[in-house]
Formats: sequence, structure tokens, C-alpha cells
Amino acid sequence: LPDPDATALTGRDVAGLIPRPGDESDKYRRGVLGVAAGSDLFTGAAVLAVGGALRGGSGMVRYAGREAPVAQVRSHWPEAVVTLLDAPSIEHVGRVQAWVLGPGLGTDTWAHELAVKVLASDVPVLVDADGLTLVARDKALLRRTAPVLITPHAGELSRLIGADRAGIEAARLEHARRAAAELGVTVLLKGSTTVVAEEGRPARVNVSGTPWLSTGGTGDVLSGLAGALLAQGLSCYDAASCGAYLHGVAGRLAADGAPLTAADVATAIPGAIRAVTSPG
Ligand code: AMP
Ligand code: MG
Repeated sequence: LPDPDATALTGRDVAGLIPRPGDESDKYRRGVLGVAAGSDLFTGAAVLAVGGALRGGSGMVRYAGREAPVAQVRSHWPEAVVTLLDAPSIEHVGRVQAWVLGPGLGTDTWAHELAVKVLASDVPVLVDADGLTLVARDKALLRRTAPVLITPHAGELSRLIGADRAGIEAARLEHARRAAAELGVTVLLKGSTTVVAEEGRPARVNVSGTPWLSTGGTGDVLSGLAGALLAQGLSCYDAASCGAYLHGVAGRLAADGAPLTAADVATAIPGAIRAVTSPG
């Protein structure tokens, strides 16, 4: 992996980038994140993305979705502001500073219509999971002026850029860079090593995680966490790299040499932030 144009983000870098509230802070000024995720089949992804988001330090998390995930998010997270969508539209959700789009969202017409609305907004959007499938089918969705951060694993990236999965795994940095250039977005390519790529910037690699993270739902937690950092005003590049770093540290804290669940990773995020901002 040694690459002259790739740097590893350190805990010190992350500590310098994470926003901290001050006396003048209120929940709106700390940033409001919108989460468009979950479906009748995949309610857990919505719960996990909101869980990651709530621990990522934004002032408020607004969740919008269909009936089944709405019920689950409501019962798991009284802290979230929840809107039941009776149509795939975000006009009644309220103002947000960033969106997370995709975990468990499904890929039906309703999901596609909601993706159209979210991506038509004027705020940064993190696109993950089913959101990536929708975008792979309809690349025009990415034609927007506000920034886009995509968070694929190798399989999801292969559908987006038409390269095969093995080729991506063999040359992750190159493919992340190529995707960033071709799609005009910031790329967070997940795996045992996570790569962040954006045109005109040095790629960043992150190895703070643990193989225990390879279990269902951890990616959804990462989406919520990185989305919360976007909502607080970090660029896609910094939100992606800080999110990946903190997610990895949270995974290590949660695992401590034994299996973890995705919910454990979300729970460990504040400890990861503490460890990074006040080490020793
Ligand atoms: P997803 O692919 O969306 O389920 O997300 C899985 C999460 O676990 C990502 O944050 C990956 O970077 C992380 N992950 C998966 N496998 C490993 C591994 N072997 N070592 C470290 N992190 C991993
Ligand atoms: Mg995933």
C-alpha cells in the first residue's frame, strides 16, 4: 500500500478537525442531519444509521421514511425527530444541513423518487448502500451542485464504475481515485483498509479498524456518523476521513478481542471521540 500520494490520517489530525460545541452553540447551529433510509424489509439499517448519527455530534437528527422503519426508529431513538412520509418527498421534513441517503432504503420506484428529491436539495448528501444502487442505475442523479460523498464497498463500487470486484480489491486506491474523477464525488471505499479519494486532494487511507467490524450493519453506522460530521460543516473529504477513523476506533473499543454488533459500534463512538481528543 505504500503510495507517495496517499497519507494516513492520525488521531491528532482527527482531534483537530472534530467540531466541539462552545457557549454560543445551540442544536441548530451544531448542524441538523437528515436520514433517508430503511424500508419495510430493512428497518434495522435505519435504526443503525440514526444510531451512528446521534453519536456523531450534530445538534439534531431528522429521520424520514415509510411506516415500518418509522415505527422502529421511533421506539429505538426518542432523540430523533421522525417524519412519516406518505409520499416520497422531503418538503415536510424541515431544514437540514446534510443528508444520509440509502441504507436499507430499497430500490423500488418510491425509493428512487425519494433519492431524486434528496439529491435535488442544496446540501451535501452522503450516498450509501441501496442509494448507490439507485445512483448506479441513474447516474443523472449525481448531477447537482452541492457535494456528494459516496461510501461503497468494493461490490457497490464495481456497479458504479463498471470494473470487476477483484480488480478493485487488487488496486483499491486507483479505483477510488478513478471513481472520484469520473463521478465528480468524494469516495470513501470501505474494506479492511478504507480509502478516501477526491480529485485534487491526496488520497487518505485508514487502518484504525479491526476485522471484527466485518459484520452486518457496521456500514450503516458509519454512514450515520460521517453524515453527522457533514452536517456539522466538515467537507466531504474531512467527514469521510474522520468518520472512517472514528468508526475504526469505535470498532476496536467495542470488540476488544471478541465479536461485536453494529449497535455496539454506535455505542462506542463517544468513547472513540474521547480517546482521540483527550488521549493518554
Ligand atoms: P459494509 O460493507 O457497508 O457492511 O460496511 C462494513 C464496515 O466494516 C466498513 O466500515 C468496513 O471498512 C469495515 N470492515 C469490513 N471488513 C473489515 C476488515 N476486515 N477490517 C477492518 N474493517 C472492516
Ligand atoms: Mg453497507
